[in-house]
Amino acid sequence: MKCTVCRGEAVIDLRRHNANFCREHFLRFCRDQVAKAIAEHRMFGPDDRVLVAVSGGKDSLALWDLLVELGYRAEGLYIDLGIGSYSEASTATSVAFAESRGLTLHRVDLREEHGYDIPTAAAVTRRVPCSSCGLSKRHLFDEVARTGGFDVVATGHNLDDEAAVLLGNVLHWQTEYLGRQAPVLEERDGFPKKVKPLVRLSERETAAYCVLRGIDYIVEECPMAAGNRHLRYKEALNALEAASPGTKHAFYFEFLDKAADRFRPEARASQEELRPCTSCGAPTTAEVCAFCRLVERVRGAEPVPVEVLGSKGRRRRRRNGAARDGAAAEAGATAAAAGERVRP
Ligand code: SF4
Ligand SMILES: [Zn+2]
Ligand SMILES: [Zn+2]
Repeated sequence: MKCTVCRGEAVIDLRRHNANFCREHFLRFCRDQVAKAIAEHRMFGPDDRVLVAVSGGKDSLALWDLLVELGYRAEGLYIDLGIGSYSEASTATSVAFAESRGLTLHRVDLREEHGYDIPTAAAVTRRVPCSSCGLSKRHLFDEVARTGGFDVVATGHNLDDEAAVLLGNVLHWQTEYLGRQAPVLEERDGFPKKVKPLVRLSERETAAYCVLRGIDYIVEECPMAAGNRHLRYKEALNALEAASPGTKHAFYFEFLDKAADRFRPEARASQEELRPCTSCGAPTTAEVCAFCRLVERVRGAEPVPVEVLGSKGRRRRRRNGAARDGAAAEAGATAAAAGERVRP
């Protein structure tokens, strides 16, 4: 298999681009795709301070690495969610990545600073863990961006993530959400601008990027993600992509080009007036924001172990050679699902 650019030995083939790349040209391809997304969607400029939401997974670490490689002023924010050994390994991986590159990583520990963790919040509120987790993460990213003087928050959502969210929104005709789905959410009334620079890269591509850059990342998903609807949507899209490469890209980008604007008025109409939370000052539609109400409810509750919530998530952490093997297997598995080959 030859590189489409230099005819050297290729390490990956990308059927949706009808191309094969050697290591050097694949890394360049990833940088070009991110640069294109940033420019096309006017995400940020060279002088902006970017806060990268870091989880220790392949997407967030690839994103941070790519932004630094492209010369942007990117600092990381890691939130310790207190999800047992998964969070311990995520913390260690994120800290090791930042230290190895001399990058600034801001950290918030939910239990230390706010008196709760996600498994406990899920048990107390009797809602799925992702509900209190998403609420906590959104609030804390906004807060650190505001207090730290950042211009924009960047998250590691990739093409697979965005296509799966779009499929879910279409299947249920969530017109309000369709009106908000975009690679950029502009700043509004105290909420920082939010961007997704990886929207032009697939999950398989960010995994291969990490392998080829020697980035050690947490291989598995959060153990609380089990049963997440988006995982099923991703599987359905992978099956379509295998039969017809380029389907995910067309589905998402044609939506942005041809349909997203039609739903914007609905999204705008649903926006309620915001005022500062009387407790923390964050913008909210109520007197006290949802985060402060959650903290009030769960702070100091008896900690609930992850296992009590019935999670069967396996936890592994891959390092160095093992990381390559694991990521290669992961990229290979995805590739197999998509009927493609990868040789990291
Ligand atoms: S999957 Fe885990 S990390 Fe992600 S939102 Fe749910 S609880 Fe939080
Ligand atoms: Zn090449
Ligand atoms: Zn508040």
